[in-house]
Amino acid sequence: MAMVDGSQGPGYVGIRFCDECNNMLYPKENKELKELMYTCRNCDFTKPSSDNCVYVNKILHKVDELTHIVADVIADPTLPHTDEHPCPNCKARNAVFFQAQSRRGEEEMKLYYVCCATNCGHRWTE
Ligand SMILES: [Zn+2]
Ligand SMILES: [Zn+2]
Repeated sequence: MAMVDGSQGPGYVGIRFCDECNNMLYPKENKELKELMYTCRNCDFTKPSSDNCVYVNKILHKVDELTHIVADVIADPTLPHTDEHPCPNCKARNAVFFQAQSRRGEEEMKLYYVCCATNCGHRWTE
């Protein structure tokens, strides 16, 4: 099984990069202001999402939980990789997978896959 380091960022729409150090910014909710922020884990650079396009906000609200998870899993080198589930988007055989439960409790534990190919970052579930 091929080993991939966690530094390959996803390429899906909505990813922001740090103004300071060019690392990937992670979406983070500011609960007091009820506002979505983007923060850099490398240098603590933070910027509000309000200066970004509305499109990104819409996506985050729809799949809020999954988006938060996905940003974390791609950067997490400890998660298992699989080459048995080719990406539906780019056909790459290099995905991380993990199980997540919906907070609403409507769904059962689901297995999620996230493509690790550069410029893809596609995620899907079975
Ligand atoms: Zn930074
Ligand atoms: Zn892909």
